[in-house]
Amino acid sequence: MTTPYVLQGGLVLDPASKQESVMDLRLDGDRIVALGGNLEVKPGDTAIDARGLWICPGFIDLHCHLRDLGQKDKEDIETGTRAAAAGGYTTVVAMANTEPPVDNAATLSVLLNRIADRAHIEVLPVACVTKGMEGAELTNMVELAEMGAVAFSDDGLPISNMAVLRRALEYARLSERVIISHAEDRDLCQGGIIHEGARATAMGLSGIPIAGETVAIAREIEIVRSTNSPYHFTHLSCAQSVELVRRAKADGLPVTADATPHHLTLTVDQIQGWDANYKMKPPLRTQIDQEALIAGLKDGTLDAIATDHAPHTRQDKCRPLEEASVGVIGLETALALTLERLVGAGHLRPLEFIALFTSKAAPVLDLPQPSLQIDSTANIAIVDPALRWTYSTSTGQSRSHNSPFHGRLLTGKNILTFYQGRPVFTDKQALQNRLKEPV
Ligand SMILES: [Zn+2]
Repeated sequence: MTTPYVLQGGLVLDPASKQESVMDLRLDGDRIVALGGNLEVKPGDTAIDARGLWICPGFIDLHCHLRDLGQKDKEDIETGTRAAAAGGYTTVVAMANTEPPVDNAATLSVLLNRIADRAHIEVLPVACVTKGMEGAELTNMVELAEMGAVAFSDDGLPISNMAVLRRALEYARLSERVIISHAEDRDLCQGGIIHEGARATAMGLSGIPIAGETVAIAREIEIVRSTNSPYHFTHLSCAQSVELVRRAKADGLPVTADATPHHLTLTVDQIQGWDANYKMKPPLRTQIDQEALIAGLKDGTLDAIATDHAPHTRQDKCRPLEEASVGVIGLETALALTLERLVGAGHLRPLEFIALFTSKAAPVLDLPQPSLQIDSTANIAIVDPALRWTYSTSTGQSRSHNSPFHGRLLTGKNILTFYQGRPVFTDKQALQNRLKEPV
């Protein structure tokens, strides 16, 4: 049981209700119980001076890798959800490419127990589309959905056989679940390390062509057209991909899409030497691609920002670029990086920006709409949009350190996260002069 909290004078940004106003908010137990001007602080309440801060619904990450089961040297449910809470997240969608992969009832059951025991926030597990992520034989999707799989994906690997994908979409519709696509043409991307172009040539590396993504998206869209089952494209990286999804949406197809903070803030030209922390899939692309992703977020082609938080050990990353593991961590830097890029640069207003982490992300997987209205669950992220801080992987909450943003000066930070009314992350330094303990 926690004490009631009164958040005083913050800017309440609640995209679902389009509310954007300075007011007080009271939480008691696991609920938001009052919202208004000058709420009374009663004995026993903890008051927080929230002037200048944003009060947002807790964020949703549609794509992260928590590595539990089996890869605890990289991350686990405990450390991964601690990192997520630090980033302002209260719900994360965990991908199924663990060891073993989540492709059967027994494995999902172990994972669900681990989540119940160790998660600091809500973890929604994804189950595999195909057994062993081999792209051939479907998992028992109906059973896995009934047990609690929130979506299906072989993320990390594409599904190359379109007959398999078409059947999977039929079962996904039966289970009322979405399939999340890691769109990649394996033959075109074979051996590629970074984006195909001058940089790859100069470094003597095989490139990953744009077509390696767009060919996969184009054919998957045609399968969606034939089944009309909901389908989500994660981590779009190039301009042509955005255009394909834009046209599919215009055709009325049930497709959605997201982009990652790293694709929104880095380009292939910013890769530092041979640093494997810039190696990810899909790869960093060009400035033109990045601008197209931003345009897609602005016009609603892209529904959400998702981290693709992909922890790896130092041994996995401190290798020649060709051999190093693929992916970067991102739960703790997502907000600040994209806040600078999208709000700081004038592309989006704060309410539109927060929607990409909350009200627009939730419908992608048919999740409950996050809300700050009275009687909503008290899942809240409190953001200081002006706080300048230096991100360090050494003081971060993730077990892994593979971030190209280590040492970067950032503006804007989540400083307090409530999950079901309990504080699950507190930036003590940022809050020291704002917290008034109960009298
Ligand atoms: Zn992926």
